[in-house]
Amino acid sequence: MAIIEVSGLEKSFGDHAVLKGIDLNVNKQDVLAVVGPSGSGKSTFLRCLNLLERPTAGTIRFEGKDITKGELDVNALRSRVGMVFQHFNLFPHMTVLNNITLAQQKVLGTSREAAVEVAQDLLAKVGLRDKQDAYPNSLSGGQKQRVAIARALALKPAVILFDEPTSALDPEMVHEVLQTMAELAAEGMTMIVVTHEMGFARRAANRLVFMDDGVIISDTTPAAFFEDPGNERARKFIEKVLS
Ligand code: ADP
Ligand code: MG
Repeated sequence: MAIIEVSGLEKSFGDHAVLKGIDLNVNKQDVLAVVGPSGSGKSTFLRCLNLLERPTAGTIRFEGKDITKGELDVNALRSRVGMVFQHFNLFPHMTVLNNITLAQQKVLGTSREAAVEVAQDLLAKVGLRDKQDAYPNSLSGGQKQRVAIARALALKPAVILFDEPTSALDPEMVHEVLQTMAELAAEGMTMIVVTHEMGFARRAANRLVFMDDGVIISDTTPAAFFEDPGNERARKFIEKVLS
């Protein structure tokens, strides 16, 4: 069953057309790796999916409802379509625990007590139970990103969007974050992951979407993509990321 149905999606900034007609269905429990050259529109595409950007044309149906039209509670949407950013975007003036309880209380109306319980369970899940009272600045990049994943999970999203979640990390921290993401994938979380980590794409994703210049060039399994990228631009891209 499709949870996200994107049809004819376009996004321009002024006269700069960035997304030029994207069609894509995402099914429950899909794990999509989205790859492509820098500037091809990957971040803009993810940001349209939870309305951090407003599409210029086309439709995005989430759980059957067109989110580009009419009155919509954007906060409610973003609790269902979680996002994890390259630079974590944690609140620096709040403890780890409060980073994870805030939106539960504000968006879901969860009681403080219940929100703390959820946060503590999620911190245990990402291996950071002992960090609840720490401030983000005292954590490593890998730890910050695991807190950001726990924060997204706290809202019980139907989908999580990851925008290059390991690109800002020192190499030795990449593995722990990919491991956490692979566990989520194995649990059946629906995920759209913009990444250059081809090992992760091969292991954890069931689909690999290659974007170039604002369009989707191919949508296939990771194994099939690496076996035969299908066109010259994809082939060049693979050569670069694997070299
Ligand atoms: P990618 O994530 O694939 O590197 P992006 O979606 O970040 O690509 O960017 C695609 C293009 O859109 C780039 O040329 C970028 O400069 C442009 N762009 C992205 N966001 C904005 C914005 N808010 N205003 C103007 N141009 C933007
Ligand atoms: Mg990007």
